[in-house]
Amino acid sequence: MDEFQIINRYFRRDSISRFPLSVGDDCALIDVPTGQQLAMSIDSLVEGVHFFHDDRPDLIASRALCVSLSDLAAMGAEPSCFTLSLSLPKADEEWLTLFSQGLFNTADQYGCELIGGDTVCGPLVISIQVHGTVPRGAAMKRSAAQLGDLVCVSGTLGDGAASLAVLKQQIEVGQADHRYLKDRYYQPQPRFDVAMCIRDFANAAIDISDGLVADLNHICEASRLAACISTETLPLSHSLLSCATERQRRDWPLYGGDDYQLCFTIPPEKYALLSAQHDGLDIVAVGRMGSGKGVYCETSQELLTTKRAGYQHFGDTKEGAE
Ligand code: ADP
Ligand code: MG
Repeated sequence: MDEFQIINRYFRRDSISRFPLSVGDDCALIDVPTGQQLAMSIDSLVEGVHFFHDDRPDLIASRALCVSLSDLAAMGAEPSCFTLSLSLPKADEEWLTLFSQGLFNTADQYGCELIGGDTVCGPLVISIQVHGTVPRGAAMKRSAAQLGDLVCVSGTLGDGAASLAVLKQQIEVGQADHRYLKDRYYQPQPRFDVAMCIRDFANAAIDISDGLVADLNHICEASRLAACISTETLPLSHSLLSCATERQRRDWPLYGGDDYQLCFTIPPEKYALLSAQHDGLDIVAVGRMGSGKGVYCETSQELLTTKRAGYQHFGDTKEGAE
């Protein structure tokens, strides 16, 4: 099978495109609605670094797309379309069939259409560039946190680190928790539900891919502020609690990666309004923005400076998730 047969068989769909021009020409064309801005983000997943050699191809595909979509959610943008750059060692039909099924299932779930890409022969690398739209001026930038803002997070934290430990067979869990944690890793849910509710209230936001401390620190640096987290308020899942040691309970929510929850900052009075308007939204306040630099953690007994964490591809720090 050559490059064009791969594209036609696995990545071109006969269904009518929502876009003026899609897969098949030199470029795709998209109209940006008036009053909206285009949000774009690209992520690459490399075999051996971001996924395991024998992972299911449909799960690799859905995870790759979800990880990219999570960046759109963090910005407060709604998914629109994406491009796919695929470097493949060989044209394995079974692999490609499963990969494209997983990809299109997830794409349809989030209303994000594949509009183009590139297909080459090489080591297995999947790059996805997502495009979304956000009303002009409404995007939640990392640099927009204000002194006194509450720091909030969605969902539960540390599940990504717990699931990696389970997948690497470093810890044991019961069947139901195993399933829950495995899903957290392979099918992270980009939090558009939360993003659309908080967009009109929050100042800064980021998605938690490298661990709360590392990602919140990006907000701190961009906004020239410090953050203090009350570790006792961090939301933990039953599955994590069922398998983690005391140390892991403390470290995973702070330093573990692959959670893809949102962390955002919001003025206290707007947090009250948000909570009143969206009762039951799974967000919780875990800290506050202050003056200074860096991320601090406080327990009821002590104030701790956090260790540097997060996976860095060219750094020598290899803590956190891969
Ligand atoms: P060009 O040589 O003009 O760059 P290509 O031969 O790379 O074009 O691709 C032909 C068409 O197929 C283009 O519209 C491109 O966007 C699309 N395409 C290539 N690879 C993929 C892919 N993996 N998924 C979706 N569309 C793809
Ligand atoms: Mg090309």
